[in-house]
Amino acid sequence: MSRNSEPTAPPADVTEGFTLRVAVEAPQHTGLTAPLDYTSEHTLAPGTLVRVPLARRDVPGIVWPGAASGDSPVELKAVAQALTALPPLSARWCELIEFTAGYYQRSIGEVALSVLPPELRKLDDAQIANRIKKLHKSLASDVAEHSPPELPALSEEQARALVQIDVLAAVSAVITTDDTSKPPTAPTVLLHGVTGSGKTEVYLRAAAKALDEGRQALVLVPEINLTPQLEARFAERFAGRHIVSLHSGLTPAQRLRHWLAAHLGLADLVLGTRLAVFASMPRLGLIVVDEEHDPSYKQQEGARYSARDLAVYRGKLESATVLLGSATPSLESWQRANEGRYVRLALPSRIGGGALPRVRLVDMNLLPKANGTAVSPPLVAALQERIARGEQSLVFLNRRGYAPVLSCGDCGWKSGCPNCSAWRVFHKLDRTLRCHHCGFTERVPRACPDCGNLDIAPVGRGTERLEEQLADVLRNADGTPARIARIDADSTRLKGALEAQLGAVHAGDVDVLVGTQMVTKGHDFRRITLVAAINPDSSLFSSDFRAPERLFALLMQAGGRAGRDAEQAARSEMWVQTWNPRHALYDALRQHDFTAFAESQLKEREMAGLPPYSHLAMLRAEARTPEAARAFLLAATELATTLPGADAVMVYPPVPMGVARVANVERMQMLIESSSRVALQRLLVLWLPALHTLRRGHATAEQRILRWAVDVDPLSI
Ligand code: ADP
Ligand code: ZN
Ligand code: ZN
Repeated sequence: MSRNSEPTAPPADVTEGFTLRVAVEAPQHTGLTAPLDYTSEHTLAPGTLVRVPLARRDVPGIVWPGAASGDSPVELKAVAQALTALPPLSARWCELIEFTAGYYQRSIGEVALSVLPPELRKLDDAQIANRIKKLHKSLASDVAEHSPPELPALSEEQARALVQIDVLAAVSAVITTDDTSKPPTAPTVLLHGVTGSGKTEVYLRAAAKALDEGRQALVLVPEINLTPQLEARFAERFAGRHIVSLHSGLTPAQRLRHWLAAHLGLADLVLGTRLAVFASMPRLGLIVVDEEHDPSYKQQEGARYSARDLAVYRGKLESATVLLGSATPSLESWQRANEGRYVRLALPSRIGGGALPRVRLVDMNLLPKANGTAVSPPLVAALQERIARGEQSLVFLNRRGYAPVLSCGDCGWKSGCPNCSAWRVFHKLDRTLRCHHCGFTERVPRACPDCGNLDIAPVGRGTERLEEQLADVLRNADGTPARIARIDADSTRLKGALEAQLGAVHAGDVDVLVGTQMVTKGHDFRRITLVAAINPDSSLFSSDFRAPERLFALLMQAGGRAGRDAEQAARSEMWVQTWNPRHALYDALRQHDFTAFAESQLKEREMAGLPPYSHLAMLRAEARTPEAARAFLLAATELATTLPGADAVMVYPPVPMGVARVANVERMQMLIESSSRVALQRLLVLWLPALHTLRRGHATAEQRILRWAVDVDPLSI
């Protein structure tokens, strides 16, 4: 890292100006991961945005901290343009980027430039100056009188957690280390609070404290859908403060404006999704990661970073307290708390003292073989009871569309995707067959394409079919149909649709809400007293070792939508339809005992040598043929064995990915494991650059690899 690198003298033969390093976005296959040397007439502060010539083009770059390498065999080119209207990015920001690039095995320039607002690269200095001026003006016209907001009295548990956070921060700040170049430490807190325990209020108070101390706060949420709700709560509490959001749903102009507000220190609060972890914030004092267990915090392409893990790293860099909140923390975080690296604080009860919903398992084995009815008779009766009482229910099924596959009863034809090793999903509303992997869509055929049979039928069910089935059976007392709404990726495609649908639920215009896991996260529904999971069993037997952890979190999270109003809590229920009612996971769910579940999972992981007791990376290769992808991975394996430190790392044989072919590309993957994070990193650093040459070695199109990538700490395997 730059802090430790030896300063080198500038090369003697530079006749004019200064030599400096610039991080540029070099294409990955060039293997250029370090910043490049350039000259400049003027000295430029590290973190300054520039444009520099690279391969006959001018590309954006960032003057990088640390001395130029000085080993360029050719004459250095000069910086073409320095964008000094923008205050330089901080050394700490650069260090965050450098760590990210190193840890996730990407180039510094790629990471740095990919997390800046795209607009920024297009503007010249005068345009940037202009945007900044406008921003200042709009903020100045924004100031109005605000009465202080009314604060709810904290629950005892909230108050205790906040005191502990304060004490921890104060104690950390005074711990002196011998190394004065290191920033003062700051605590990482794992806030384990059951659903409805008022974690948000803790975030709000912690943020208020950071703001009072003149610092900025960063709040991360897993889903873009949750940002408007959170923004509203923060805006209400922090009237008069400047709050901005950062997520991929913003227009390029908005994103630039919000980013600038954070970078210039004008915004006190930044709310956003995973990419906001890279927001430039000069006075950062608090980072909140809400629902820290959520898989959306892991980026799935380019630099495959974990925003949750980077938040913790960044907290150390910036001496900022980090609050990781969840009702079902990730086992990684749980284990770190066990080890004392994070401080665990608990909010074990719901606000208002209401109980968590009673869990009822419907043993599907005991019911007569239901022909196509997804919803068991006892569950229908329970839903019916809610409707009669004027209460709401939420029924969730993690599969959108009408049915996952269409099939011909005569010849066995199934609605496969011609481009993927997957079925095409039947969507009844627009009568299409759609591939959820490559997007390939066709009208549903009138007859079986293979044998002409007119009787092709849907197999299995998705949310559309569930909605239809519920509409068939659920009635109001007067016999009129009950009001059923569906929320999933299909029903919310249009802008504003989700807000409108959620609004209808909150307003009480819906009796039964059907949806995918989209509706299980975060929403503070007040009238729901029954939550039902239709078919969660498949995760019990997945080959992915994290499947039980994810299922448990999903069910706890979903159950948490019920009985959030204390008056209704006593009769709120969570129903689970299952063929495995005696499974240990459901037992823990029934007791709402996350701790027992986490500890038993951790024990299993320890015995199996799985994370967090080992460290993984996944090497993936894509090619036109599975043979080519496999050959590449095997060659890579062979190469790995020749490297120093190879014996500390285990490389598993290549296997096809879960969906092996997508859009006519064959995908293979191979797991790399080590009990030591350092050993794994050491190998990757030597190995990956060598793979670039390996790739170039192959000749014909059939043999050639289209892409390969490494995923450090992969979430799904
Ligand atoms: P969680 O995120 O832990 O599931 P929330 O933060 O959404 O819980 O809080 C649940 C509900 O309790 C919200 O409606 C919130 O406004 C309310 N609430 C939180 N803290 C308090 C408090 N101290 N007094 C009264 N109501 C509170
Ligand atoms: Zn047929
Ligand atoms: Zn497809």
